[in-house]
Amino acid sequence: MPLTDLMPTHSDILTACGLSEATTSAGSLNVYTPVDGSLIASLATHSVADAEAQIAAAKEAFKSWRLVPAPRRGELVRLLGEELRREKENLGRLVTLECGKIYQEGLGEVQEMIDICDFAVGLSRQLYGLTIASERPGHAMRETWHPMGTCGVITAFNFPVAPWCWNAALALVCGDPVIWKPSEKTPLTALAVQVICERVMADFGDDAPAGLIQTLVGERELGEALTASKDVALISATGSVPMGQAVARDMSTRLGRTILELGGNNAMIVAPSADLEMALRAIVFSAVGTAGQRCTTLRRLIVHEDIYDALIPRLVKAYQGLPIGDPLVDGSLVGPLIDTEAMTAMARALEQAKTEGGTVHGGGQALGDDFPNAAYVHPSIVEMPTQSAIMHHETFAPILYVVKYKDLDEAIALQNDVPQGLSSCIFSTDVRETETFLSAAGSDCGIANVNIGPSGAEIGGAFGGEKETGGGRESGSDAWKAYMRRQTNTINYSRELPLAQGIKFDI
Ligand code: NAD
Repeated sequence: MPLTDLMPTHSDILTACGLSEATTSAGSLNVYTPVDGSLIASLATHSVADAEAQIAAAKEAFKSWRLVPAPRRGELVRLLGEELRREKENLGRLVTLECGKIYQEGLGEVQEMIDICDFAVGLSRQLYGLTIASERPGHAMRETWHPMGTCGVITAFNFPVAPWCWNAALALVCGDPVIWKPSEKTPLTALAVQVICERVMADFGDDAPAGLIQTLVGERELGEALTASKDVALISATGSVPMGQAVARDMSTRLGRTILELGGNNAMIVAPSADLEMALRAIVFSAVGTAGQRCTTLRRLIVHEDIYDALIPRLVKAYQGLPIGDPLVDGSLVGPLIDTEAMTAMARALEQAKTEGGTVHGGGQALGDDFPNAAYVHPSIVEMPTQSAIMHHETFAPILYVVKYKDLDEAIALQNDVPQGLSSCIFSTDVRETETFLSAAGSDCGIANVNIGPSGAEIGGAFGGEKETGGGRESGSDAWKAYMRRQTNTINYSRELPLAQGIKFDI
């Protein structure tokens, strides 16, 4: 049901997403909205035994779902995309209420879900294998792709719904049941999506088995229950580097498959030939969008010394005029941080930057009188003398460190000299520079852009990063292959039994 009220209450937003009072007051997992820090729900949580029961149900569902023809599986995802179109405003508003990103970005996140559903529907008719030339006469070889088994999806608070969909839409067309463990900070959006999925499965009919799409509400031990179970074939985990390291450790003991989408520390190089108007807009959007809480947020700006003075004062001025405010209200461009711990972490990072020689512009709490229990901050620019220790670290807040460079090799070396490898970009109109940046000797990140900021990826390309970002790829291109098992077939249609490599083994 669409909300017509211009300024719906928090409980209107929950109700519009099918979350009744009985659901939102059923237990002890407290959910606070970052909009004003108030309590919006106390949810019942699942136990580890519940997680095991879901895993068993998914295992059963897999037996029939893997046999449903892939284009028919695609029909389920098409229906999901249709339902998401209908629910876009309601769900987008709930994303804003629960994680604090501005409403436009909440809508954008739901649009990403719709986009990946469209992609997956097309993919459901394109799960192509190969035919391969055999060295033996009368033999054929081919490579085929089969459903893999249950896919466990662990997600972070800052993108509470889209990453689930990047995984689920592909997993479902690939023939895999999905169990979702959302962030304990944003379980409401997951429950709202589960409500949508229940409706979609009912419309789809009997060949969507019980246990096909499930959600686990609770703390990390539910994620650990997924990683521990040999009946979960694949874990796709989005979150911090320490979480990814723990998941990788647990999965390695059973040699399970992972897709890891972890922290970033993304940079932009601004070269002397850059269009500074474009660069300025790209910097501000990618550094302060989602209040600096995107994995692809711009955190390091590497500026050529010749244009430094033309760019940085303008940037500082642009920051001073940014509308900080309630993310549900039109016109706010910077919403709150997720909680006061995040605000403390930001203050600590700025202190460290100062001790490392940084000059800090902005920073500090904003709107403290209006929202004493929330964590609104002034985005910060920090001019650094060199790329020192603090710049190697991802602080999940709107802090943009700026350093100068003299030549492109130095800039690329700075860009690559951090532990993370998610997203990167260069602003330049010199093709020699841009192609060098994209070459084997250029950016070492999973994403490298030219004249576009590091955030705001489209679903058509594979998304993910290298080094401590984890190496996983989701979404477009051939990311679907991670959700299937590959099988090589050799078929002998002759009356002889020649061995490969010409080996003689006569008996
Ligand atoms: P987090 O690591 O604290 O939590 C993420 C999820 O992991 C939660 O659901 C949590 O319950 C679960 N979890 C934690 N420990 C676990 C364990 N040992 N086993 C199984 N599950 C476990 O992350 P967060 O604070 O919610 O999100 C912010 C981080 O996520 C940032 O570092 C950000 O860069 C990263 N992120 C990365 C991407 C990407 O695509 N690369 C996207 C969004 C966010």
